[in-house]
Amino acid sequence: MTSAFLLNIAIIIFGWSRYRQFRKEIAARKLAEQQASRLAVLDTLTELFNRSSFNDVVDKLLSNAAKAGQAVVVLVADLDGFKAINDLNGHDVGDLMLRECAARLCACAPSSAIAGRVGGDEFALAFPVDRQRRGTAKSVAEKVANLLAQPASINGVKVEVTASIGIARSDVVGLSKSPDSRELLEMASVASYHAQQQGRDRSVRFEARMADELRFQVELKRGIRQGIPNGEFIPFYEQQIDLQTGELTGFEMLARWNSPQFGLVSPDVFIPIAEEMGAIGDLSRSVIRQAMEDAKGWDPRLTLAVNISPLQLRDPWFSQKLLHLLVEANFPPQRLEIEITESCLHQNVAQVRSLITSLKNQGVRVSLDDFGTGYSSLAQLRSLPFDRIKIDRSFITNMTNDSDDAAIVHAIAMLGKGLNLPITAEGIETSDVLEKLRQYGQLKGQGYLYGRPRPAHEIAEWLSQRELAVAALPDLPTIPRHPNNGDQTDSGGEQQVSKRSGYGKSA
Ligand code: C2E
Ligand code: CA
Ligand code: CA
Repeated sequence: MTSAFLLNIAIIIFGWSRYRQFRKEIAARKLAEQQASRLAVLDTLTELFNRSSFNDVVDKLLSNAAKAGQAVVVLVADLDGFKAINDLNGHDVGDLMLRECAARLCACAPSSAIAGRVGGDEFALAFPVDRQRRGTAKSVAEKVANLLAQPASINGVKVEVTASIGIARSDVVGLSKSPDSRELLEMASVASYHAQQQGRDRSVRFEARMADELRFQVELKRGIRQGIPNGEFIPFYEQQIDLQTGELTGFEMLARWNSPQFGLVSPDVFIPIAEEMGAIGDLSRSVIRQAMEDAKGWDPRLTLAVNISPLQLRDPWFSQKLLHLLVEANFPPQRLEIEITESCLHQNVAQVRSLITSLKNQGVRVSLDDFGTGYSSLAQLRSLPFDRIKIDRSFITNMTNDSDDAAIVHAIAMLGKGLNLPITAEGIETSDVLEKLRQYGQLKGQGYLYGRPRPAHEIAEWLSQRELAVAALPDLPTIPRHPNNGDQTDSGGEQQVSKRSGYGKSA
C-alpha cells in the first residue's frame, strides 16, 4: 500500500518535471523560430527590413492605402561614393557608417513609415500619403538628404556621405496600371539614378518617361555585356594627314558597336555606359587587339592612334596591360599613339605624369585629345611630357566663319610651336578650313573632308589600291595630295545610332 502510494507520488513528480522540461523546450524552439524569421525579414547589419521583406510590407501598405483612398510613396536613398569610404577606411568603418545612416533615416522618417536596406548602400522608406497632398515626399526627401549629409564620427574617423534620392508615388500619372511594391521600388531607383546623373546629393521625382529610358539602358547594358565576348565591338579608322604635304601619316581607331539588336552604335552612346558598368577596360582591349592586327597589314610607316578612357588611366596596371597587348600582337610600340582627353588632367596629375612616362619608356607616344575643351593650364602642358596636342573639332569646324575660333586655333598653333609640341587639327570638313590651317604652320589634320571613319576591310582595300599595304612594300609611292581627288569611296556615310542622330541616320 505504502509502496503503491510512493510510486504514485514518484510518477506525479516525474510527470511534473517532464512537463516543465517540455515547456522549456517549446519556449526555446519558439524563440529560435522567432529569431530565424526575424533574420529572414531583417537586414542583419542595420536591422531594417531587407529588400524582399520591405517589398512584402509595401504590398500590405499599398492594399491598406487603396482601401483608405491614399497613395504610397517610396523613397530610395543611394549613398554617393560609398565604395570610396570602404576603400579608404576599411569595411569596419563602412559597416558602422551604414548603421549610422540607417539610424538617421529612421530619425527623420514619418511615424507611419517603414524603412529598409534594399541594396549594399541603398536605403528605402515607404509611407502612405493623401492623394490630394503634394510636397510631403519632397520634404521628407530633403530632411533625409540633410541629415545624411551631416559628418559622422566613426571610430574617431570623420566620415561624410551624401545621397542621391529618388521619389516614386503609387499614383504617378502616365503609367498604364498602378505599380506593385517591386515596381514602385524600381521606379524610385530609376529616379535616384537620375539624381546621380544630375550631380548627386539631390532628390528627383520619378516620371513615367523614365521607365522607357530605363528599359533602354537595361537592354543596352545587357547588349554590351554580351557583345564584348561576341566580338561585336569593332574598330573603324579615320585618316590622319600631314596638312603641308597631304600625306597620309596614319589612322585614328574609333570603336563602333555592331549590335544585332540596335545596328551600328556610336561610341558616344556605348562608351559612357561601358564606363559606368566597369566594362570599358575589356571593351577597349578587345578593339585595340583587333586594331593592332589590322595595322600590321598596313605600311609600317603608318601610325595607329587609339582613344583611352579617363577611367582606364586610373588603373595602376594600365601601362603593363598595354605592354602585354603589344607583345601579344607583336606590334611595334613606336607605331602606337595613345590619345587621352584633357579632362583626365583633373585627376591626379602626378599619376597621369607617371603613366605617360611609363608609356613613353615603352616607346608609345601620347597625345592630348580634345584640347581647348578642358581647363589644362600652360604649366600642366609644360610639365606633362605629351608628344602632341589635338585641337578639339569644335574650334576647327567653324573657323572660317567665326573669327574667335580662328584666333584660338591660331594661338594654339603658336603655342605648339613655342613649346615644340606638334599639333593636330580635328574636324576638318571643308577645303576652306584646310587652306586656313595650312597658313598656321606645320600641322597634322583629320576630318570628314578626308572621308568618314571606315571599317578595317575597306581601309585594307583602299591602302592596297595605293600600294600602302604590307604586300606592296618596300617600294612606296607618294600618297594623294588632295582629299577630293577622286577618292569618293571614302565619303560613304555610316549608318549608326548616335546620341544626336537617333537610329539609323547618317552620322
Ligand atoms: P574623338 O576622339 O574626339 O574622335 C573624333 C570624333 O569626331 C569621331 O566621332 C569622329 O567620327 C568625329 N569626326 C571626325 N571628323 C569629323 C568632322 O569633320 N566633323 C565632325 N562633325 N565629326 C568628325 P566618333 O567616332 O563618334 O567618336 C566619338 C568619341 O568616342 C571619340 O571622340 C572618342 O572620344 C570616343 N571613342 C571612340 N572610340 C573609342 C574607344 O575605343 N575608346 C574610348 N575610350 N573612347 C572612344
Ligand atoms: Ca581621339
Ligand atoms: Ca578628339
